[in-house]
Amino acid sequence: MSTKTNESELPEGFKDIRCIICPTGCLVHVENINGELIIEGHSCKRGEEYAREEFVAPKRILTTTMRVEKGFLPLIPVRSDKPIPKDRLEETLKLIAKAQTTAPIKMGDTLLENVFGLDINIIASRDLIEM
Ligand code: SF4
Repeated sequence: MSTKTNESELPEGFKDIRCIICPTGCLVHVENINGELIIEGHSCKRGEEYAREEFVAPKRILTTTMRVEKGFLPLIPVRSDKPIPKDRLEETLKLIAKAQTTAPIKMGDTLLENVFGLDINIIASRDLIEM
């Protein structure tokens, strides 16, 4: 399958991207040729969308730990509730590294709200009781 689209502010060059949407794992070639995005190698629309986003604005769910006061454990695993743009991951990790929360905590509790105005929250990945 091959697709061509015109988009503004595309990155230069090309990327070969392994689609991780399903176990087939198609290798998708995405290339910016004179402002026209060429996508080849995908077998379905979902793979095309995945490869386009990975090329234009890659995002990741962030997982890490946060310090806890009065907790049964000193750290709690946390994650972003939505994918974060890859170029904002490092500063978000630094923000979480400086933060501290207080037990008790329930899985899914919002521990940091709307980080950097991205409409992304950092939430607890497990329960944590008080010490
Ligand atoms: S392109 Fe479609 S078929 Fe291929 S790995 Fe991605 S989701 Fe699966």
